[in-house]
Amino acid sequence: MTGAAMYDTNNIFAKILRGEIPAQRLYEDDYALAFPDIRPAAPAHVLVIPKGTYISIADFGARASAEEITGFFRAVSHVAGLMGVTESGFRLISNAGPDSHQEVPHFHVHLLGGRALGPLLASV
Ligand code: 5GP
Repeated sequence: MTGAAMYDTNNIFAKILRGEIPAQRLYEDDYALAFPDIRPAAPAHVLVIPKGTYISIADFGARASAEEITGFFRAVSHVAGLMGVTESGFRLISNAGPDSHQEVPHFHVHLLGGRALGPLLASV
């Protein structure tokens, strides 16, 4: 089965995109939607999701058009600016698949900032 066939149209972020679940729409364009994470892990914690039906960044990179990919990452840069973290710095995280603890099967990036975030992961 391909990513397109496996995509769950009833996942939480699909419902947010359709307006069926409320979210503060911080930024939206033809390619992306940005809204605050409901359980913030940093003073600034925003999720950016594409409008298209992609399960993970692996699926997005494999199936999305060049226009969608460009549009999405331009939106990420724009949202970092809106959050005021372009100069201070930020971290982008995208969980993909079971080992990553991805909870919502619609591709998203976590944009985290607003304080010094420390090392990425504890060493093994
Ligand atoms: P993942 O583990 O899939 O990378 O991250 C999913 C994120 O979505 C989590 O950080 C979680 O707090 C957030 N989240 C889950 N449900 C909702 C929701 O209904 N609204 C918002 N704004 N965030 C959500």
